[in-house]
Amino acid sequence: MSGAPTGERWPELSFEDLIATTRFDIHERAHITVDDAICADCSTRECVVACPANLFVPTSDGGILFNYEQCFECGTCYLLCNKEGAITWTYPEGGHGVVFKRT
Ligand code: SF4
Ligand code: SF4
Repeated sequence: MSGAPTGERWPELSFEDLIATTRFDIHERAHITVDDAICADCSTRECVVACPANLFVPTSDGGILFNYEQCFECGTCYLLCNKEGAITWTYPEGGHGVVFKRT
């Protein structure tokens, strides 16, 4: 099995480097939707902190702005969200979504 030798660290990857190794075949149907009305009552905002792609952005009126296009499909937002029905999560249509490229 390949990997970093014991005691050595993987090289640091910036967010920009990571995005540069990633492609998104975007489908017109959003595979994740967020109910802004439910989010308005959320004070903890786990999604904002945890999404590795920074796709959840708080708005000045207390809502959440969300764009699905550059989603890594990790599922973290769905696992952490504490409000029933706030996030509807599915995988993109077959052949679409994130494509991780080897470096
Ligand atoms: S998606 Fe979930 S965690 Fe994020 S603001 Fe809405 S209710 Fe809160
Ligand atoms: S699945 Fe992962 S990358 Fe996509 S929106 Fe949720 S936390 Fe962000």
